[in-house]
Amino acid sequence: MKISEIFENMTYGPAPENASEAYKFLDKFEKKFPLFINGEWQKSDSEVFIKTFNPSDNSELSEISSGSPKDVDDAVKAAKNALEAWVNLGGIGRAKYLYAIARQIQKHSRLFAVLESLDNGKPVRETRDIDIPLVARHFYHHAGWASLMETELPDYQEVGVIGQIIPWNFPMLMLSWKIAPALAMGNTVVLKPAEFTSLTALLFADICKNVGLPNGVINIVTGDGKTGAEIVNHPGVDKIAFTGSTEVGKIIRKSIAGSGKKLSLELGGKSPFIVFEDADLDSVVEGIVDAIWFNQGQVCCASSRLLVQESVAEKLYSKIKKRMEKLRMGNSLDKCIDIGAVVDQTQWNTIDGYVKKGIEEGNQIWQPTWECPKGGQFYPPTLFTDVPAASIIAQEEIFGPVLVAMTFRHHKEAVNLANNTRYGLAASIWTENINLALDIAPQIKAGTVWINSSNVFDAASGFGGYRESGFGREGGKEGLFEYVKPKIEKEFPENAPKVKISKTKTAFNPSGIDKTAKHYIGGKQVRPDSGYSINITNPWGDYIGEMPEGTRKDIRNAVEAAAGSTSWGSMTGHARAQVLYFIAENLSSRAKEFAEKIALMTGQTLNDAEKEVEVSIQRIFAYAAYADKYDGQVHSTTSKNVTLAMPEALGVLGIVCPDENPLLGFLSLLLPALAMGNNVVIVPSEKHPFSATDFYQILETSDVPAGAVNIITGKKDELASEMAKHFNIDGLWYFGSKEGSEKVEALATESMKRTWVNYGKHRNWLDSKHGFGEIFLRNATQIKNIWIPYGA
Ligand code: NDP
Repeated sequence: MKISEIFENMTYGPAPENASEAYKFLDKFEKKFPLFINGEWQKSDSEVFIKTFNPSDNSELSEISSGSPKDVDDAVKAAKNALEAWVNLGGIGRAKYLYAIARQIQKHSRLFAVLESLDNGKPVRETRDIDIPLVARHFYHHAGWASLMETELPDYQEVGVIGQIIPWNFPMLMLSWKIAPALAMGNTVVLKPAEFTSLTALLFADICKNVGLPNGVINIVTGDGKTGAEIVNHPGVDKIAFTGSTEVGKIIRKSIAGSGKKLSLELGGKSPFIVFEDADLDSVVEGIVDAIWFNQGQVCCASSRLLVQESVAEKLYSKIKKRMEKLRMGNSLDKCIDIGAVVDQTQWNTIDGYVKKGIEEGNQIWQPTWECPKGGQFYPPTLFTDVPAASIIAQEEIFGPVLVAMTFRHHKEAVNLANNTRYGLAASIWTENINLALDIAPQIKAGTVWINSSNVFDAASGFGGYRESGFGREGGKEGLFEYVKPKIEKEFPENAPKVKISKTKTAFNPSGIDKTAKHYIGGKQVRPDSGYSINITNPWGDYIGEMPEGTRKDIRNAVEAAAGSTSWGSMTGHARAQVLYFIAENLSSRAKEFAEKIALMTGQTLNDAEKEVEVSIQRIFAYAAYADKYDGQVHSTTSKNVTLAMPEALGVLGIVCPDENPLLGFLSLLLPALAMGNNVVIVPSEKHPFSATDFYQILETSDVPAGAVNIITGKKDELASEMAKHFNIDGLWYFGSKEGSEKVEALATESMKRTWVNYGKHRNWLDSKHGFGEIFLRNATQIKNIWIPYGA
């Protein structure tokens, strides 16, 4: 091009980044990578290699090993062997290694950035300025957490060997999100990168070797989904941390159900980008570029659904189109481009398939007039307008540069449309009215909400989903809990603590049985749908009463009542506390009657039963106190934001109670759930249900709103299964058998609800270290991070 032409059209010329260092690294391994196991490069036992390509020009970059079952076994064994010494090194010892890794990443940041761009197709401007700096930040930040572990988490210990499986969209960033917290908390790791993008993980292994990380602490096993499945199912692995598709997330969850392996899942999304009519539309346009064309839209939290207030929709569409026309697409190593290549032909086909479906559905499509470069996997930025909410392209995750727009008229409609998805990863809200933004943010069911910004991340802030976007958080203090377990868990016995049966048979108490127990649904006592009751006996085999036999229909009615009741969840923590204190007061005035009922059902001495009631009252008081004290944090992130980490109620929480301590077990689970603002469907002790069915009289006289507590009696495992399958139950706690725990975890997969099960282990509910504390509150909530711009 002549200089005069450049002056005339003012286009940018290419600004290619030099890739020679990256190729030198590939050459060092003769473009055929072994695995990294026990601190050594190890040939794969499979002797099978997978080719990896540069998506910008389809040139072959290298070959990576396809890890076999034996390779995975070697890696897990190495990680297990390394565990004890790594834990014993202590937090400060581990911090030194994490700092050293962070420094190495910074020193080699350009090499990492270039290699990542080559392998993935994303613009080097992004890997250089976003991905790799965030990777280093993640290691620095978690080096700090390692040194603070003993002070900040004194009651917790490492989980053990962690299997980590990551996708191709942010290969190094996902690696750091997984490895940094795991190592900081004293775990060792077997990580499988995605087969399309394993090269930077192998460069990272090289760095681990350079910093002298003890052998076996990190093991990198490359391969495809089969290698991933080997890691998931290996009995030596104690936890799986997965990021990827919802489909694979479900497969993983099902396959480890009941194994006791801890699990965190960061899955897909279909995040809304909500534009109110008073928003600064020029900023909105740049926000959209970041939201959907960053990394070619291959971002789990990409705001792929644009919801715009009708009055400004046309104006915004025309501004977006103008900007799209100016987006620059090209080779990932060109520093002047906005959009690179998508990762692989298969992904290109998936995107194109959705776009064709969108056209078939009759939606309005718009693409820029310029042509995509040839020879690579380039997909044009695409805008669909006026798309109906039920359209496939408005519901499914496309994972490409495709923006689907629809309009709304009023605020409520915006919230309804935003939440009209099975996902819940992120949302972006655009308005110049901070009151409006802060009114909308808590109403959006998503783990991250950005106000007047999009795709902002930091190691100090947790990231993760609601609903089918998975569970668990990565980053921030909340993310550490994915890599620790309470030390007290070791004490939980396999067998239920023995109940001391009274020497004298408890007197049959006619006043206790002359009324028929019923379910309690929506604030009313109701008969079971089945019309059947189950006889309840005391330990001597005497009949003492009947409880309703709950069925699927009763659970459905209870869930409907719980889901439809909004007053409890919208009360302030202070107001909820007052109701809980009132419950404690009312129980206290009927303490003797409840103790007699416990003694009658369980055969315990009256003294022991009185003790159970006394501890129950104390526990209600304690959770009433927590109702306005278990609050969030303002995270100290690196961007100019106030990042509010707010614990939110899960929504509708199902609870299945243990048999022992029928009143205390019931209240130890119900109360933290209520204190945090959940509506509850609870199944009391199957053996001894009457202290719970009597409890609805206490609820009725304590100002508990209808629908906040629903009690269904019956066969606990059958009812647990119904609850596990129900799509409108957001979380389920199960305290029963090992088999029952497995079933709950497996059945909860489809609805992706959060579960908390005891794997057949028991707690001594009378001991506050077992039956009380923050862990109950943490399981009753999920953290939402709201990013609010702050400062100039
Ligand atoms: P997958 O969920 O298939 O892959 C994620 C990781 O899991 C990869 O390392 C993959 O291996 C591995 N894997 C695949 N199958 C199994 C299995 N059965 N057990 C254990 N590990 C397994 O995502 P894809 O890469 O196939 O992408 C498909 C779609 O998923 C995308 O179009 C997108 O919609 C979504 N996606 C979402 C992401 C997110 O961050 N939420 C990230 C990536 C994809 P390998 O790929 O190496 O064979």
